[in-house]
Amino acid sequence: MFDTVIRNGTVVTADEVFPADVGIVGERIAALGEALEGTTEIDARGCYVLPGGIDPHVHLQMPQGAFVSADDFASGTAAAALGGTTTVIDFVEPAPEEPLLAAFEKRRAQADGRVAVDYGLHMTIPAWHAGQPAVLNALDAVVAAGMPSFKLYMAYAGLHLDDVQLYRAMAAIAKAGGLPIVHCENGPLCDALRADALSHGETSPIHHAFTRPPRQEAEAVGRAIDVAALAGAPLYVVHISCAEALARVQDARAGGEDVYGETCPQYLFLNAQLLDQPGGERLICAPPLREPEDNEALWEGLSGGDVDVLSTDHCPFTAAEKAGHAAFTTIPGGVPSIEARLSLAHTFGQPRGMSLPRWVEVCCSNPARIFGLERKGRVIPGFDADLVVFDPERWVRIEAGQTLHERVDWSPYEGLHVQGWPRDVFSRGRAVVRDGAFVGQAGWGQFVARGGS
Ligand SMILES: [Zn+2]
Repeated sequence: MFDTVIRNGTVVTADEVFPADVGIVGERIAALGEALEGTTEIDARGCYVLPGGIDPHVHLQMPQGAFVSADDFASGTAAAALGGTTTVIDFVEPAPEEPLLAAFEKRRAQADGRVAVDYGLHMTIPAWHAGQPAVLNALDAVVAAGMPSFKLYMAYAGLHLDDVQLYRAMAAIAKAGGLPIVHCENGPLCDALRADALSHGETSPIHHAFTRPPRQEAEAVGRAIDVAALAGAPLYVVHISCAEALARVQDARAGGEDVYGETCPQYLFLNAQLLDQPGGERLICAPPLREPEDNEALWEGLSGGDVDVLSTDHCPFTAAEKAGHAAFTTIPGGVPSIEARLSLAHTFGQPRGMSLPRWVEVCCSNPARIFGLERKGRVIPGFDADLVVFDPERWVRIEAGQTLHERVDWSPYEGLHVQGWPRDVFSRGRAVVRDGAFVGQAGWGQFVARGGS
């Protein structure tokens, strides 16, 4: 007798699709089989049973200049759960001179007791820290605290590393058994192009895209690949936005290099022309939106192999916070999508050749494997009972504040009809969503210490 049995569903893993009951004991998956019996039984007939989604790139209650992203750890993780995501990985962003582990404790204090599902943290190494040998020599302690992935920025004044800092940080991360995850844009070049645009009175949102062109992103991706190789480090490229940048990743992988690629829904669904339409300022994010051909190149990478992960880079700001700026340069950057990720990929991936196992691989299993979530991302006995009962026949019209629960009054996907939505969601054996309604509890989620390589 199991505590809970999810009966009659079709289990979808990164490898296969097969009918099975899933038995849960306590917080773990205990068995897969036929006619399992449980104290509680959930009928999943007609539904898929997936490992809980893992979104390894989110920014909850993140300060950005005078603004703070609109979802906090409670609202953001509840929305994640409703969308079938049972683990998120957010970021520690240390202030200049702040010890990395002190910043970690502060970030944990914001999340613990509030999160509805499990979470991890990446450690950012900002420019000040990257210049301190004592900081770089002590990364073992950060890995030991459960953060084997380190965010490095090649853009943004105050954050971005020059090539020497990038090299030294990557070498130190590799030595500690960690993974550098890198925002690849040529920051100084973009800053110059932005200043030029402003000096010509080019202030509207479309100039955000013109001043961060694809070639500079591709250049930064190529440079990150080369510097990582010189430093003996693996590399994870976050939010690839365009075909030119993806091509650099593909070349490196074809040459056998240890390079991972990530993209996000905004780079699959949206294009730069939208920046010129009413409300275009809402869609400012970096890298910027590109062209329809870039969308298709990234779909192909996601369906076919060279893009390993679909994350969201969820970083919501309200319509009012985005509006009314004299120039695009002061608009807070980032878009929401923490809740609709699985359904968007399910609906629009399959017509583009993405198989069900590949869908699970890029949304669940690859992020678990790449980021050291050792008991998540698979449906096998002994793993955490983070499970999604996904109804592939349920149609949902995306509406901010109605069908979505992100704490933001707009969605880039407003009005879009998606096929398939999570019906029931379990986090370590506990139901957090039942019949599409949130039944979880702030504080159920825990910080997950991840393993290094
Ligand atoms: Zn981000």
